[in-house]
Amino acid sequence: MKKRIKAVIRGIVQGVGFRPFIYRLANSYHLAGHVSNTSAGVELEVEGEDEDIRAFLKAISVEKPPLALITSINTETIPLQHEKDFFILSSQTNLQRQTLISPDICICNDCLKEMFDTKDRRYLYPFINCTNCGPRYTIIDDIPYDRINTSMRKFKMCPECEREYNDPNNRRFHAEPNACETCGPRLFLYNEKRNLIDKHPIRETIRLLEKGYIVAIKGLGGFHLAVDASNEKAVKRLRKRKHREEKPLAIMSKDLEKVKSYAVLSSEEISLLTSPQRPIVIVPRNPSHSIAPSIAPDTNDVGVLLPYTPLHYLLMKGNFPALVMTSGNLSEEPICIDNDEAFNRLKHIADYFLVHNRDILQRSDDSVGKVVNGKFRLIRRSRGYVPLPIFLEHSFSTILACGAEEKNTVCLLKENQAFLSQHIGDLENLETLSFFEHVICHLKRILEIEPRIIAYDLHPEYLSTKWAKEIKGVKLIGIQHHHAHIMSCLAENRDIFSPVIGLALDGTGYGTDGHLWGGEILLVKGKEFQRIAHLSYYPLPGGNKAIKEPWRMAISYLYPVFGEEIFKLSLNLNEAIPKKHIQWIYQMIKNNINCPLSSGLGRLFDAVSALLGIKLEIAYSAQAAILLETVREDTKDSYLFNLNTS
Ligand SMILES: [Zn+2]
Ligand SMILES: [Zn+2]
Repeated sequence: MKKRIKAVIRGIVQGVGFRPFIYRLANSYHLAGHVSNTSAGVELEVEGEDEDIRAFLKAISVEKPPLALITSINTETIPLQHEKDFFILSSQTNLQRQTLISPDICICNDCLKEMFDTKDRRYLYPFINCTNCGPRYTIIDDIPYDRINTSMRKFKMCPECEREYNDPNNRRFHAEPNACETCGPRLFLYNEKRNLIDKHPIRETIRLLEKGYIVAIKGLGGFHLAVDASNEKAVKRLRKRKHREEKPLAIMSKDLEKVKSYAVLSSEEISLLTSPQRPIVIVPRNPSHSIAPSIAPDTNDVGVLLPYTPLHYLLMKGNFPALVMTSGNLSEEPICIDNDEAFNRLKHIADYFLVHNRDILQRSDDSVGKVVNGKFRLIRRSRGYVPLPIFLEHSFSTILACGAEEKNTVCLLKENQAFLSQHIGDLENLETLSFFEHVICHLKRILEIEPRIIAYDLHPEYLSTKWAKEIKGVKLIGIQHHHAHIMSCLAENRDIFSPVIGLALDGTGYGTDGHLWGGEILLVKGKEFQRIAHLSYYPLPGGNKAIKEPWRMAISYLYPVFGEEIFKLSLNLNEAIPKKHIQWIYQMIKNNINCPLSSGLGRLFDAVSALLGIKLEIAYSAQAAILLETVREDTKDSYLFNLNTS
C-alpha cells in the first residue's frame, strides 16, 4: 500500500553529507519526496510502498554518514501527493534552532589521497575538505550551517567547485567550506617585520623549520608556534620567548611510525591519536628518544598529536621527527586567531608567520587526553569535541554555568543536552575574560539558549562569579566547587539523582565555611550535599603565594607536629631556602597572619614534594605534584591515619 510520511531528524545532521545520503537512500528504495535542512535538523517527506518506507527509515540509522549523530527521528503519516521524483530543497529558517553543529574534524582519507595525487585538481592544496571532513565550529558565527554564516562567505566558488557543491552524487555536495586553489583561501609567509616572503610558502616554511626558526602557523582554532622538536637550542629559544620555561610542550609527528620512534603506544592510545578528533594524547616516552630534552623536562611522558589539517600534512614532509605545536600565545593569554592580533602579540616570539585568509571565528585550543587504566580521560575538551553536547537522562530548565577560575569552561544546558564550551583558560586577565564573554554570547546565539538560571562558583573573588552576579533578570545560584565536580561526574555517567558518596580531590575550591576545600568526601543527593569527611585543614602561609612555593606548605604541615623544633630538623629544603625565610613563615603560621585554611589534597602533594626536595617553587600549576608522580614507585604499603569523628 502506498503511503507518505514526514520525518524530522535531529542531531548532527547538517554539514556532514546527510541530505545527499537521504537522497541516495530514497532513490534506492524508489521513494519520491524531498529533504531539506531546517533549524530543527533535517526534515524529509517520502512516499512509496509501505515496506520500502519502513526499510528506508531503518537504514537511516544504520547507514548514516560517518560524522552524523542522530538523537531522534520523529515521523508522522501525511496525505499522498503522488510525486514521481526525490528532491533536495534549500535550507529554511524556523524559529526553533535545535540542530547540532559538528565539531571540526580532521582531514578524511579521500581528501588526503586527492591532495597527494599529482593529477588531482587540488594537488597540494592546503584547504582541501569535503562533507566528511574539515573546519566546522571554528568558522561558524550563526546557524543554519550555510556558507553565508561561515568565514567562507568571502570566497566565491569557481564554476568547478560550484558544480561539486550542487551535485548530490558528489562528496562535496553542500560542503560549505568547499574550495580550491582557484577560488579558495591561500597561504602567505611573512617575516617578523611583516614583509611578505616571495617564495613558495610551504616549501619555505619547511626549510625555515629545518633550520631551527620559530614559525607562527595559523591553524584551525588558532595559531600554533612551531619549531623542530629535535632541536634543543630552538626549543629552548621558544620557551624563553614565550615565557614558558618548564611546562611540557605538545609535539606533532607525521604518522604513527614517527611517534613510535620516541614514544611507547598502547592500542588505546593509537586509536585516540588516529581518531577524527585528533586530540593531544599524553603517552610514555621511549627512553632512547630523539626529541629535545626540554620538550617535557619534568615527566617521562610526552603530549603527542597527529596532523589534522591538510596544511599540517604538507608541513610534515619536512626532515624532522616532530614539530613542537604549542598554542600561539604568551603564557596565560588566550590563543591568537586573527592575523593582525598574531603579528602584534607574537612578534617577539616567532621569526616567521605562515598565515592564511580564512578567518577563524571561534578560538579553539587542541584537546588533551590520557589513557588511564585502559580508558580515555579527557583533560581538556576543546577542538574536535566542542560543540557536541553531553546527553543527560533528564531535561532541565535553561541554565548557564559559569565555571571556576583556572582552566575555565562554561556550560549551557537546554532540555537534556549540556553544551560545554571549548577551553577558555585561566580567568586572570582581561583578554581571557573577554574570550569568556564572547564564548557565552556565541553559544547562546547558535544554540538559541536564553538562560533562566545562572550558576556560579561560591568563590567571591573569581572573575566568573563577579561576572555572573552582575547579570540582571535571571535566577542566580551559587554552587560549591566540589559539589559541582561530583555532579558533573554523575551527569556524564547519566545518573544525576542517585545518592552517592563522592570524592573530590583537587587543589582549591571555596567551601561553605569560607575555607579552601580540596580533599573532600561528600554525600551528594542532587541539589543537596553533606560534607562527611575531609582532609585536615592546614594554613596556607601567604595565601596564593603558598601554592606557588610548596616549601611553605612543608613548614605548614610540620608546624603542628614539631613546633619550634622545626629549626633543628635537617630538611631537604634547608639548603635552598634561607633560614630567615623559614622563620618568617613560621611566625606567620604561629601568629595566624595571612594564613587561610586549606584541606586541598594538592597542598599535601606540594608539602611532600617539597619535603623530599623535589620542588620548592613551581613554574606552572601542579608542577610539584607532577614531579612527585614521576618518582613514585608502585607499592602496597600505606600510612595509618586518624579519622576524627568529633
Ligand atoms: Zn574530506
Ligand atoms: Zn574552486
